Amino acid sequence: MLGLKKPLETSEHTDSYYAATANINTRYPPLEGSHKTDVLVIGGGFSGVNTALELAERGYQVTLLEANRIGWGATGRNGGQVIGGIGHGHSRFKKHIGAAGIKALYDMGNECVDIVKERVAKYNINCDLTMGYMDVALKPSHMEGFIEEKQELESLGYTHKMHLLDQQQVRDQVGSDLYIGGLLHPTGHGHCHVLNLCLGEAQAAANLGVQIFEQSPVTKLQQGNNPTAYTAYGQIQAQHIVLCGNAYLAGIAPKIHSRILPANSSVVTTEKLTTEQLNDLIPNNLAICDPRTALDYYRLTADGRLLFGGLSNYTGREPSNLNEVMKEKILKVFPQLQDTQLEYGWSGQMGIGINRMPQLGRLDGNVYYMQAYAGHGVAPTHIMGRITAEMIAGQAERFDVFAKIPHWPFPGGKLLRTPSFALAMMYYKLKDELL
Ligand SMILES: Cc1cc2nc3c(=O)[nH]c(=O)nc-3n(C[C@H](O)[C@H](O)[C@H](O)COP(=O)(O)OP(=O)(O)OC[C@H]3O[C@@H](n4cnc5c(N)ncnc54)[C@H](O)[C@@H]3O)c2cc1C
Repeated sequence: MLGLKKPLETSEHTDSYYAATANINTRYPPLEGSHKTDVLVIGGGFSGVNTALELAERGYQVTLLEANRIGWGATGRNGGQVIGGIGHGHSRFKKHIGAAGIKALYDMGNECVDIVKERVAKYNINCDLTMGYMDVALKPSHMEGFIEEKQELESLGYTHKMHLLDQQQVRDQVGSDLYIGGLLHPTGHGHCHVLNLCLGEAQAAANLGVQIFEQSPVTKLQQGNNPTAYTAYGQIQAQHIVLCGNAYLAGIAPKIHSRILPANSSVVTTEKLTTEQLNDLIPNNLAICDPRTALDYYRLTADGRLLFGGLSNYTGREPSNLNEVMKEKILKVFPQLQDTQLEYGWSGQMGIGINRMPQLGRLDGNVYYMQAYAGHGVAPTHIMGRITAEMIAGQAERFDVFAKIPHWPFPGGKLLRTPSFALAMMYYKLKDELL
């Protein structure tokens, strides 16, 4: 039985492979005193930093408040898989957004990866970005899903190549006997060092004049047309406020917080592997995912480790013996790593919405929010920042596509929503095992 505990958090980056290999060490000061700004962004993950950067590129005066450190949340802890696409099952929303809305979502799903590539090139961000990704099938129903996905993407005009692979072809790409086939995306998706990407984007934003304050949690938010945010030692009045706290945004905006469930996922990295081991595991340096509810996701790092994630659960807790449990999971995929040590292990929280679509919208007056990317936010956060910047600049078309998609609060209130959805996840895990 898995013993679960609440992860221990400080206001510094969690002890991870990413923090240990961060290549920018800038510290931004805490907020003090009374300030005014055009746009205040709350939260310094990919959502907040990219919103700030997009606005600064358009000439706005922007201030960003981060409760801890830039990239402290899911952004600086995730699997680093840069995957295109926004949410799942777009056709479910046809009655709300029409065929044009569905096409717009599809286009945004492509654009989000392009933004990551553009940022890295334009601002010279050193974050090991590399393209190449593969979905792997554990059973025939997974393969059927990949065939449908490929057909759908092709029918929408997807320009990147995709290849359906049989068992042997997958075995040539990944040193595991677990899989029966796969869908290879050699150029459309990829992976990177996410903390270095976010720190580089924050540096670019600061160079364009964005005022960044770290270790400045917003404790109170006054909404309306001249909204104001309060921290322990300061306050800022803004023309617009954008809430980008995602799963970590507790307290200051209960209305949107009730629309997501904070779910935990855990990641480990091995010690550095030999060139021979790396070539045996993933010779073409792909990022890899299986399609289960509690999936395995993994890739190699630029310094030659296996970075392996999984154990997603809706309790918001991590296993008390994290590395031990993760080692067992790794050995199911790669039994050849029996004697390999794990050097880092950590967990993070992601926001999950009831319909599994990212949420972008407006609260009272000029307060906007974005959240709920589930385990698929590295690239989508980048387009959300752009669309919110467009909205603030007066172009509402793409923002309105999201605003029309309904996002219901989780049933059960604060006390019951986590246990109910922990149960729901057990059901889906069981279904993954049986079907
Ligand atoms: C373990 C894990 C693995 C994942 N793997 C992948 C993956 O491989 N690929 C992928 O695409 N996605 C992945 N995801 C999802 C992805 O990481 C997230 O969707 C994305 O990083 C969300 O970014 P964000 O900026 O919205 O939120 P976060 O990165 O969580 O940032 C929110 C920030 O807001 C700050 N904040 C909160 N409240 C306040 C406040 N009151 N005042 C000031 N600041 C505040 C927090 O301190 C935090 O830094 C994973 C997530 C997890 C947890």
